[in-house]
Amino acid sequence: MWHWIYWVAVLFAVIFLRYIAFSGLYHHLLRKRLRERLRHRIFHYDVGVGAQVGTEIRRSAIVSLIFAAFGIAVLFLWQAGYTQLYMSLDSTSNYIWLAAGPVLFLFLQETYYYWIHRWMHRPGVYDKVHRWHHESIETTAWTAFSFHPIEAVLQAVFLPLSVLLIPMHVFAFLTLLAVMTLSATINHAGIEIFPASWARIPVLRGLIGATHHDVHHKQARYNFGLYFTFWDKWMGTESPKFSERFRSFTQRQASAEGVERR
Ligand SMILES: [Zn+2]
Ligand SMILES: [Zn+2]
Repeated sequence: MWHWIYWVAVLFAVIFLRYIAFSGLYHHLLRKRLRERLRHRIFHYDVGVGAQVGTEIRRSAIVSLIFAAFGIAVLFLWQAGYTQLYMSLDSTSNYIWLAAGPVLFLFLQETYYYWIHRWMHRPGVYDKVHRWHHESIETTAWTAFSFHPIEAVLQAVFLPLSVLLIPMHVFAFLTLLAVMTLSATINHAGIEIFPASWARIPVLRGLIGATHHDVHHKQARYNFGLYFTFWDKWMGTESPKFSERFRSFTQRQASAEGVERR
């Protein structure tokens, strides 16, 4: 028992310090060091977020502890031989799942997240589960892990389920965990980093970036997706303003208008 608590504490330290380092670096480099050069891409240029950041970091610490507990649950299931995780590439099917596993994981996680996210916006559920995340209307890189503990559990429960159901190489699974953190940081940092050309390239134009998710924090009835826009497109929940906003933040000539573009 103490053995597992020790490893939860170690993994908590890794997840939380990685969040501090990654969100801190992202915020510092893009919002501070490159502030003038990237002015046209920053959504809320002059907003003061001091007190908000403190709340977000406190909430992210609790969320990191929950994520660590679920991470150790995955490790426990793996050691006990219940998961479909594998290490060797000694068969054709293991090579096929090297690519198919992450694709299936991303599709299922996207589907799971889109629908629980719609559910979390229902009256009665929203106040108990999802309001904390939406208290950050002007989001920053620090908002990435700022959820209510119940929402953190709902998100994290997908991880043990996924390793029970989907054959995945261990390193592919670890890469997917890194993608989750990277995506959450990019989508909340309040600065569009995708190039304008991505709006014209198939697959890339279906990726959710900062502009897409920022619209969700401003207009909560639109843009519920996690990594991809396909569920929002299929269900008619993508904001009609998204494309125009993406264009405005990725075209340099619009820079002089600053925050008035909202
Ligand atoms: Zn968000
Ligand atoms: Zn929401």
